[in-house]
Amino acid sequence: MEIKKKDIRALTKEQLRAFFVKEGDKAFRGNQVYEWLWQKAAYSFDDMTNISKETRQMLEDNFVINHIRVDTMQRSNDGTIKNAVRLHDGLIVESVLIPTSTRTTACVSSQVGCSLDCKFCATSRLKRMRNLNPDEIYDQVVAIDNESRLYHNRPLSNIVFMGMGEPLMNYNNVIKAIDKITSKEGLGMSPKRITVSTSGVPKMIKKMADDEVKFNLAVSLHSAVDEVRTSIMPFNETFPLQDLRESLEYWYTKTQRKISYEYVVWKGINDTQNDIDAFVKFCKYVPCKVNIIEYNPIDDGEFQQASNEALENYIRTLEQNRIVVNVRRSRGKDIDAACGQLANKT
Ligand code: SF4
Repeated sequence: MEIKKKDIRALTKEQLRAFFVKEGDKAFRGNQVYEWLWQKAAYSFDDMTNISKETRQMLEDNFVINHIRVDTMQRSNDGTIKNAVRLHDGLIVESVLIPTSTRTTACVSSQVGCSLDCKFCATSRLKRMRNLNPDEIYDQVVAIDNESRLYHNRPLSNIVFMGMGEPLMNYNNVIKAIDKITSKEGLGMSPKRITVSTSGVPKMIKKMADDEVKFNLAVSLHSAVDEVRTSIMPFNETFPLQDLRESLEYWYTKTQRKISYEYVVWKGINDTQNDIDAFVKFCKYVPCKVNIIEYNPIDDGEFQQASNEALENYIRTLEQNRIVVNVRRSRGKDIDAACGQLANKT
């Protein structure tokens, strides 16, 4: 009978050290292997050149390294890169490198598919198949960092959890991945350069505040009118805006860190003065900044980008109310890598 080998990256450093002691080796060997697994992102035990051949074989007999593989990589005219990433069980997720003149951002996935049903999002059409493990999230970042160095001559500078899936529905693994990304034994990135973007799960926002996380929080709001938000993000019925507001107030009281609201304006959906006024009111509850995001139609359906006039009206009203607003042009549209377009089409 074939014995199922354990994923070695599921072990903590202490567990790895204990394993080597049990095998009659030194605990220090665990540190060396741990460094290969995370900081050096080794694909195989054979890569671990300062470990003896016998020890590498022993590791091979007991463990696997479930490293992701970049299945296909597409490059957009604007420099954006989209990776279709194959996981050890054959499932695929996507991640994106977004370069600008000042930064290179990785947009990573946290789940295969998504259990939420945002009507404007291509990922929602793939049912949630499973959560990603911490190492699968970490590997996406490493792959994009390598591509950033190769194609843009600079390391990755920022990470957003805005790819496939709702990160707060895979909270523990996302936190473990961020711990590795920010650790000196991992990529050593500052948590200030990491943003977790959620559709708004109040209880988990409060938990993040309690856990004193150091990264940034973004909320895909898209409407501050319950009726409208529920029609486009049906889980708003379970987590209405009042609950979301309370959780954001809790977050700010505990962390003193501003929230970013991601907001798309769609024609005939959230482009009236009433929508604008409700949003401005919501923005005043907690210190925030707003990112108005250009929409990328996923088909010819009901969601179409609002008129310039409606967008300008939003921007003007927000600015008149002293709310910082950025307009984010979408990147990588020609390769379906823009916001809301990730759907494993490659
Ligand atoms: S927008 Fe985010 S939370 Fe909503 S369905 Fe798409 S991936 Fe899931």
